[in-house]
Amino acid sequence: MVDGCVFCGIARGEIEAEVVRDEGEVMAFRDKEPGAPVHVLVIPKEHVGSLAEIGRLPEGTAKRLFEVAHMVAEDEGISDSGYAFRINNGPDAGQEVAHLHAHVVGGRRLGMP
Ligand code: AMP
Repeated sequence: MVDGCVFCGIARGEIEAEVVRDEGEVMAFRDKEPGAPVHVLVIPKEHVGSLAEIGRLPEGTAKRLFEVAHMVAEDEGISDSGYAFRINNGPDAGQEVAHLHAHVVGGRRLGMP
């Protein structure tokens, strides 16, 4: 838990969010400003700021994050049509929230980047 971290607050149930999966060490909730028909964020509940710190997560949490992302895609009906799994890491990628999170985005044709 990091004071002032909005995603830590969501993980602890102290800040409201539309949670779609709570899988122990990993949680998924809807992005408050969705960029596509499906836009869900998947986070480790334990605070790590970015991919640079991913080694601090307990064994298996990163794998679980990938698995939960795909479960969300299945729940949302976009696992066959396809979806993006995206981590914005650092300023040039536009990372706004300094708590590692992956976007699961789909429900329409997506482009790169
Ligand atoms: P980024 O750090 O660029 O990967 O994106 C952060 C994402 O978090 C943005 O898409 C925001 O809309 C989303 N976001 C920020 N605060 C909240 C919140 N309280 N609940 C849900 N989504 C949020």
